[in-house]
Amino acid sequence: MDRIRNARHFAPRLQRWLAEKAEAQQEAPPAAAASSSPFPVPAPAAVNLLRPPVQLRRPEPTAPQLTGDQDKRQLLVGEYILEYVLKRSTRRSIGFTVDDTGLYVTAPKRCSLADIDNAIRAKQHWILSKLDERRQRRAARLEKPPIVWDDGARLPYLGEEITLRLYQAPRNRTEFDPVAMELSMGLVQGATEQLLKERVKNWYKAQAEGLFQQRLDLYAARLGVQYAGFSLSSADTRWGSCTAQRTIRLNWKLMHFSLPLVDYVVAHELAHILEMNHSARFWANVGRIYPQYEEAKQLLRKRAAELPPLFT
Ligand SMILES: [Zn+2]
Repeated sequence: MDRIRNARHFAPRLQRWLAEKAEAQQEAPPAAAASSSPFPVPAPAAVNLLRPPVQLRRPEPTAPQLTGDQDKRQLLVGEYILEYVLKRSTRRSIGFTVDDTGLYVTAPKRCSLADIDNAIRAKQHWILSKLDERRQRRAARLEKPPIVWDDGARLPYLGEEITLRLYQAPRNRTEFDPVAMELSMGLVQGATEQLLKERVKNWYKAQAEGLFQQRLDLYAARLGVQYAGFSLSSADTRWGSCTAQRTIRLNWKLMHFSLPLVDYVVAHELAHILEMNHSARFWANVGRIYPQYEEAKQLLRKRAAELPPLFT
């Protein structure tokens, strides 16, 4: 019963996903012809003028590409065709990975294709839901144009937007005006876009260090726990973690979201000091210091999906 319901639930979405994927593949222009790209390919030895007097050297765009030794296959799952890339390896079991480009299956060298197809069918609900999740996330991201690293660029910061101000300077310098919400970056001549991005990222991280420390201390006192230490992480999909040694890691990218969402992750990870699981007891502890955790959880997922690609 569950299977049928799930299949019905995912089938139209999968069909849409397959259609969009096919369309995207057809439409993908050759990299060199992508003149509308925010990072146009510079002519050899030429420098793209940003806006005088600031000059940034822009990198060539890189698109993920399948290499030749990978085997692209299709499998009929229910009434739909599931496309995947098969990789052979020395591992002992069949593994599945889903990313923005689709499904990857890694199988032992001696494993037959029939066994692989059966393994995919056995895992089909997980695979289809992950593919669908990825597709929705990517669609939400594509609605927002990527940041153009230019003077006046708007960057998400604690649920609001800050304006990037670029100017030429004898040495690199960074200043933030919290009233005007402006992040000013003095750039030396010949600074690359990559360098600018690194510096903006480092600024975010420095802000994260200070803010997270403050929020951790606040919520640890409220919960009545002590954490051993904390560090920043930059994982793509994980916002925080807590080890058995009471060391907390928080993703600096949380700085793009509003303070209540930062606090939710802080409260969540601190509550793991008392319960290293997601049991009812764990959530009761979260609720004690952060009653609106259910709303925050949903909103964090939503905001994360809406976030435009920033430092890629
Ligand atoms: Zn958790």
